Amino acid sequence: MFIQVAIDIPSERTFTYRVPSFLAAEVAPGKRVRVPFGRRRQVGVILAVDDVAPDAGGKEIREILDILDPEPLFGPEELRFYRWAASYYLYPLGKALADVLPGTEYRSGGQRIRLTEDAADRITALLSPAADVLCAVLAGRRNGLTLNRLRKVTGIEDIRKEIRELQDAGLVRVTEAERRLAPRRGGEAPGENVRTTEAVPVLNPDQRNAVETIRESLNRGGFAPFLLHGVTGSGKTEVYLRAIADVLERGGGALLLVPEIALTGQLLNRLQARFPRQAVAVLHSGVSRAARYDQWRQIRQGRLRLIIGARSALFAPVRDLKLVVVDEEHDLSYKQDDRMHYQARDLAVIRAKLAGAAVILGSATPELQSYFNIAARKYRLLTLPDRVLSKPLPQVEVIDMRGRREAAGQPAVLSAPLQTALRETLSLGRQAILFLNRRGSHAFMVCLDCGQAFRCLNCAVSLTYYGGDAILKCHYCGFRHPVPPACPACGSSRLGGFGVGTEKVEEEVRATFPEARIARLDSDTTTRRGAHIEILQRLAGQEIDILIGTQMVAKGHDFPGVTLVGVISADTSMNLPDFRAAERTFQILTQVAGRGGRGETPGRVLIQTFNPGHYALLKARHHDYTGFYQEEIASREALSYPPFSRLVSLHLSCRSREKGRAAGETLGRLARELATAGRSAPGIEVIGPAEAPVAKIKGRYRWQLLLKGKHVTSLHALARSLSEHAAHTGLDVRIDVDPVHFL
Ligand code: ADP
Ligand code: ZN
Ligand code: ZN
Repeated sequence: MFIQVAIDIPSERTFTYRVPSFLAAEVAPGKRVRVPFGRRRQVGVILAVDDVAPDAGGKEIREILDILDPEPLFGPEELRFYRWAASYYLYPLGKALADVLPGTEYRSGGQRIRLTEDAADRITALLSPAADVLCAVLAGRRNGLTLNRLRKVTGIEDIRKEIRELQDAGLVRVTEAERRLAPRRGGEAPGENVRTTEAVPVLNPDQRNAVETIRESLNRGGFAPFLLHGVTGSGKTEVYLRAIADVLERGGGALLLVPEIALTGQLLNRLQARFPRQAVAVLHSGVSRAARYDQWRQIRQGRLRLIIGARSALFAPVRDLKLVVVDEEHDLSYKQDDRMHYQARDLAVIRAKLAGAAVILGSATPELQSYFNIAARKYRLLTLPDRVLSKPLPQVEVIDMRGRREAAGQPAVLSAPLQTALRETLSLGRQAILFLNRRGSHAFMVCLDCGQAFRCLNCAVSLTYYGGDAILKCHYCGFRHPVPPACPACGSSRLGGFGVGTEKVEEEVRATFPEARIARLDSDTTTRRGAHIEILQRLAGQEIDILIGTQMVAKGHDFPGVTLVGVISADTSMNLPDFRAAERTFQILTQVAGRGGRGETPGRVLIQTFNPGHYALLKARHHDYTGFYQEEIASREALSYPPFSRLVSLHLSCRSREKGRAAGETLGRLARELATAGRSAPGIEVIGPAEAPVAKIKGRYRWQLLLKGKHVTSLHALARSLSEHAAHTGLDVRIDVDPVHFL
């Protein structure tokens, strides 16, 4: 008997092994095996079983050492899914499988054989000679031996029969490698103890329509992808809950993905209140490895049917999967940027397709790609156009910051209208959120008089301002330009880097409102575990008057006391060096604005900007998603950006700057050669290599090379040959494939 094994090594190849006859009965796809590999041992997963020897090209086929699982860890459906993902994201399948159950849990397992406590009293003369030998070997070893070790020590190849004989005689015990089996309910997500039973609201007509449409698909069975587009507070979660109820009633499994597991407290409470008899599996990185392994097995056995988790929960082996929900599908945290670079929202659709399940992508601001799939008739659109109970969407006002500045010539952090609004809010005893999306220490350049931003001619992205060298640089193609002495649009010489961060905002707010209770929520203030939740709970408990934060404040939770939302600068995200900058701006403004006015009092949103005419801002102001979509999709088409093309980016890194740059340039030349020769890569545009936006991380210098084309197979082929080539140059290459175009 021969098996095909995916091994946890950095290679896309799979390997053939022979199965000794005494292990044959236990072989099944999806079980882990321990195998000899070179001079070491490795753990792999059985992909396929075959009776005839495959053509090994004259090489010796080695034998596996042990089988580690009594039951397969991965079913045929999951193996197909992992295979798809690994090949799409150009990642070794064996590593992809190992990544889901990381570290020691993945490497341990198998059977241990030991004598029973009273074995000495039970030894009989009736044992076979081989069984006698086993007893003698095991006698001095209290912890017993693994099957493989026992074979080695006794020199007996097939000892299964003897072990069974000894088991029957009550002389030995065979155990799986030990695990503390602790069935979990709810897990460690916050807010668990404030469980309340929830009154089930009566659906409004739009919700009812959505629920009915999904139910029809569940009745019919099979793959059914939905995009649930509902404004903030429109009752999307209620639709998910009804769909989940339908699935559980049918005995199926449901998977609910959320962007930030730390923020699922409220949602988890709602799930448990709604499904009191249903154990909910919560999968997130805070769960210990051993517990995760146990959850995994319980999910696989069908004992846990409702699974909630962050992006990696998508890989859970849910039985009879009938529904996948991706809440806030536009959220950036669905993208994984280490190991396999996958996009969980996209993979959720693939997973549902392979499982023949329904999938709901929900958002107030769907990713352009997702909405595009409506027009392409790949997804069905469900719409919730209004907030529940006819609560109005907040009123959005734009504050033009051009010409507003303090004596020092710097623009004010808090404009007069925003200060007035804050003062009013405080005096009414209500709460405010101030938002500033400032990633890292990026600075960009604008004309303080006309708002002109500086954009790359080749890429239609903003140029990043490098103060030290006084240059403007494009992170996409490497274009660079010295800072001009005057604004090309209006001639003003007042060009400035705009660089206020949340800390500066906090300082200003404290100075202006010394009596207010102020807190800040960003990655600097939430390094301690649980700090994030604590701050939000203090906001919910009305212990904070003004909360200042990054996009973290835009996510999750209802705060009925918040009536004012201030955006310090809409320009920060507008000017990101990314062709999705406008989309990100629209999303973040709409999401932040949606935090306001959830309670009885209508909300008010003030947005400060140097660019009040920007379409992302105008459309967000009127809560006009489709209007935004139409403008943005036209511009994508004109520039042939996704969804009208596909991008594969190669992230190159090297310890040596010189070596890395040279190797990167060689790689770029090779890419162009292959692309123009059309041999492996017809119709592919090669952009770069350019220095990465963050040029050095952890002592490694970084570049990126962008491949743009229409066909994923040729992009894959080119990326593959480039990474193979790079493997010989000492350059580390990681690959991002973006995005998936379905069906
Ligand atoms: P979303 O997910 O779109 O932001 P939610 O589903 O969280 O919205 O709903 C917002 C609030 O409105 C929740 O407190 C929810 O319980 C409540 N809600 C949802 N649907 C209804 C309804 N049909 N009638 C009354 N309240 C509702
Ligand atoms: Zn100007
Ligand atoms: Zn450029």
